[in-house]
Amino acid sequence: MAVERTFSIIKPDATRRNLTGAVNAKLEEAGLRIVAQKRIHMSKDQAEGFYAVHKERPFFGELVEFMISEPVVVQVLEGEDAVAKNREVMGATNPAEADAGTIRKEFALNIGENSVHGSDSLENAGIEIAFFFNDDEIVG
Ligand code: GDP
Repeated sequence: MAVERTFSIIKPDATRRNLTGAVNAKLEEAGLRIVAQKRIHMSKDQAEGFYAVHKERPFFGELVEFMISEPVVVQVLEGEDAVAKNREVMGATNPAEADAGTIRKEFALNIGENSVHGSDSLENAGIEIAFFFNDDEIVG
C-alpha cells in the first residue's frame, strides 16, 4: 500500500441538509485526511467539463443540473490506499445497494442525489484534483 491522494465532492443534496460535518467524520473515521477543502458553487461549464466522460449517458443533463443546484464542497483526501478506501466508505452508486455504515447508505437520497463523488482510479484522481485545486491549496 502507498500513500495516495484522491478527489472527493460533497454533493448538493448533502450540503443542503447540513451534512458536511457528518460526511467529513465518516471520511476521517476511515483514516482519510482532508488535506484540501473548499465550498464552491459550480458553474455549468465546470460541471459539464468535470462529468464530460458521462456526456452520452441519459442522465447527463440531470446530473449537471443537480451539481449546479446548490453549493458543493470539493476536497482532496490523503491516506494509505486513499482511492480504494474512499470508494469503500462512499458505498455503491445506488444507496439501495450500498453496504451498511457507508456514506451513501446513511445519507444518500437516491442514485442521482447520492451525497458524494470519489475518484475511481489514481489516474483520474490526479486529473480531478487538478481540475479544482492549485498545488499551493493542498496542505498535507
Ligand atoms: P460513481 O462513480 O459511484 O459516482 O458512479 P458513476 O460514475 O457511474 O456516475 C456518476 C454520477 O452520476 C453518480 O454518482 C450519480 O450522481 C449520477 N448517476 C449515475 N447513474 C445515474 C442514474 O441512473 N440516474 C441519475 N439521475 N443519476 C445517475
